[in-house]
Amino acid sequence: MKAGIVTPGQKDSARLIEMDMPVISSGQALVRLLELGIDGTDIEINRGEYGETPPDKDFIILGHEAVGQIENPGTTELGKGDFVVPMVRRPDDCVNCQRGQLDMCLVGNYRECGIKGAHGFLREYLAEDVAFLVPVPKELRNIAVLTEPTSIATKGIEQAMEFHNRSANPIDIAVVLGAGPLGLLTTALLKLHDYNIYTLDVVPRSSVKAQLVESVGANYVDGNVSSVVSLADKIGNLDLIMEATGNSTVAFQAMSVLGINGVLCLMGVSTGQKPLEVNASCLNMQMVLGNKMVFGTVSSNRGHFERSVESLIHIEERWPGWLSRLITRRLTLDKFRDALDPAPDNIKTVIELT
Ligand SMILES: [Zn+2]
Repeated sequence: MKAGIVTPGQKDSARLIEMDMPVISSGQALVRLLELGIDGTDIEINRGEYGETPPDKDFIILGHEAVGQIENPGTTELGKGDFVVPMVRRPDDCVNCQRGQLDMCLVGNYRECGIKGAHGFLREYLAEDVAFLVPVPKELRNIAVLTEPTSIATKGIEQAMEFHNRSANPIDIAVVLGAGPLGLLTTALLKLHDYNIYTLDVVPRSSVKAQLVESVGANYVDGNVSSVVSLADKIGNLDLIMEATGNSTVAFQAMSVLGINGVLCLMGVSTGQKPLEVNASCLNMQMVLGNKMVFGTVSSNRGHFERSVESLIHIEERWPGWLSRLITRRLTLDKFRDALDPAPDNIKTVIELT
């Protein structure tokens, strides 16, 4: 079978190789992978900035957002032809991993397929334990590749809502920072709750991203015209802010404008060093006197994947065709290297594996 691999630490090392077909063992199913979504982490790994090979290997198969179809269910209860999405993390022996909360790992010895210590899904076939395969209905076949990023947003939103429940006032205004795939999926998930949503990015109002924000009934804010800092003055108490840009300056600006009893969820990873001068006393005072809460979130567990599948069904019912508009570029496996060069106006690139 063909597989797209990289050598971690080496810039632009992405290449296609021929590999042996995987063989299933007890409790595993053979999955024929259909589609793979490329995200910023894949691009960073190909830049040599991140990534770790599986033990005793000098390369890693890239890719962690996938959908596939069961080719051989083996001894599992899955059926031939069932659609499945593979989870990303594999647990270590910490107390949280052992209880299924591998997204809340305490010690960091987990593996992540396509990222850290385990092969990913940019390949034609996968032999996988049934515990890490999440079934998806066949109606979602063409958009189920979005399940993994949706699971990240789902975890962030669920926890933010739980934290906001400390106070009796309901969430009225929610702000999403960033209109990339994660920001757009977050916008649609929040809109399922009918909050007043304001999604900010730095692309023009005529862009596809801005149109996608407005077509679920959220408000698009052009960050070149109106900054995060001025948002609160214009729209009122910011009950919930979901940060999906990974820009650390934006994250601190969000802290400074968070509303009374507000919750700020940080979902984006910042890289490099970026010193920033902040008025620490003022920020501390505002956080304390306003009962404000800031938290970070990473990865997702099986429950988040399962609830994401439900949410994707609801989004598709409410805004038919909206999810497929997020997939702005489709490439064959032979051309997967092109997906690792960010293209302007691109939202999500999907590699066709069949
Ligand atoms: Zn762990």
